[in-house]
Amino acid sequence: MPTKPSENEEEFIARKEYERLKKIEEEKHKNLVEEEKKKLKELHFMKCPKCGMKFIALDYKGIEVDKCSECEGIWLDAGELESVSKLEKSGIDKLFSVFSRE
Ligand SMILES: [Zn+2]
Repeated sequence: MPTKPSENEEEFIARKEYERLKKIEEEKHKNLVEEEKKKLKELHFMKCPKCGMKFIALDYKGIEVDKCSECEGIWLDAGELESVSKLEKSGIDKLFSVFSRE
């Protein structure tokens, strides 16, 4: 008994349709990740990772140092620790004196 050719065709069409819908959903997931990243950035930007309070940014010789307004922790962006380490000892002392309470 020969198989109906339309059956294979239906299977092919169904698979194509599944692949098409899957692609759409995968695209949505990608956008979700981007949206979530954006939300997280809005929520956490310039806030202390330890206590959640706002950072105060200070610029010293082109190095932006962020200091927490609550727990006084200090945050350095990528590459800034290296920049700080290249300062003369007196430069480092000055940098920290900017932050220190009188
Ligand atoms: Zn803090």
